[in-house]
Amino acid sequence: MHPFAYVAPTTVAEAVAVLTEHGDRARPLAGGTDLLVKARANAWELDAVIDIKNIPELMTLSVNGDGLSIGAGVPCYQVYDNSDVVAQYPGIVDGASIIGGIQVQSRAGLGGNLCNAAPSGDGIPALIAHSAVAHIANSSGTREVAVEDFCTGPSRTVLEAGDLLVSIEVPKPAANSGAAYTRFIPRNEMDIAVAGVGVYVVLDDSGQNFVSGRIALASVGPTPILASEAGDSLAGKPVNDETIAVAAALAKNAATPITDMRGTVDQRKQLVEVLTGRMINKAVERARG
Ligand SMILES: Cc1cc2nc3c(=O)[nH]c(=O)nc-3n(C[C@H](O)[C@H](O)[C@H](O)COP(=O)(O)OP(=O)(O)OC[C@H]3O[C@@H](n4cnc5c(N)ncnc54)[C@H](O)[C@@H]3O)c2cc1C
Repeated sequence: MHPFAYVAPTTVAEAVAVLTEHGDRARPLAGGTDLLVKARANAWELDAVIDIKNIPELMTLSVNGDGLSIGAGVPCYQVYDNSDVVAQYPGIVDGASIIGGIQVQSRAGLGGNLCNAAPSGDGIPALIAHSAVAHIANSSGTREVAVEDFCTGPSRTVLEAGDLLVSIEVPKPAANSGAAYTRFIPRNEMDIAVAGVGVYVVLDDSGQNFVSGRIALASVGPTPILASEAGDSLAGKPVNDETIAVAAALAKNAATPITDMRGTVDQRKQLVEVLTGRMINKAVERARG
């Protein structure tokens, strides 16, 4: 492994300055559970690794009237241990609690999961379904990018040299809403998703009709996918098997998987249809309380 400097800044400005100085020869270190594996495999030649865990802003998790703010360095266990997050954002908790095992979850977070940009990232679909937004800082200022636009290819994102993800902002869930995420893996745990589906739905006051829906897919394309047509098909429809089957079929159409050692195109598309139906039903159940 190429030798690199370990830098532990305590402010965003300091972190951005080091990132800017080294350009693409520097990388932020959140939990390190992807970064160290890739550095060891010589995926990059790094001069500096910038530990973000001493920057208070990046280590803050908060839930208030505006929604949920997840600092880029907040580990998964803090997400699923927070009772407000569990009550209001169960789909995000579904994702955070299946990333690796307890050791990984004590270091790794949703920020690192997003910046790593694996198509199989388990934390990403529920964030997309919830219309989350990434807040990014660099030496020129700050900008916001919708999470569904953040990943541009396997291991590729909108981040440029000198950019630092500061936080992920998730809007407050609407009344009568519910969300859920699941994946299919051939083992019980600690595996890469063959397919994953995240769903967010809003029901009307009767709980019998969909007001809106958003559906996002993992592991069935070069990036996590917002299946817009599938989610939009729910709007104004009654909650019944037919509505859900139409959305699930549209989600299947939105999937563009490849065949690899973990699954075939047909298997993955079939999984998307089945998992979408299940996750819509689970989100509805949660929306109804
Ligand atoms: C044993 C094991 C099991 C795993 N199981 C799963 C699983 O089930 N599901 C799953 O999705 N993943 C899994 N992973 C992969 C990994 O744990 C997750 O992707 C995790 O969420 C990464 O988070 P991290 O904080 O460790 O990121 P890091 O490794 O610290 O960073 C990941 C990437 O993001 C960049 N980065 C980090 N923070 C920032 C920032 N603030 N701004 C800009 N760039 C940044 C880093 O430079 C690096 O390129 C597993 C890994 C291991 C080792």
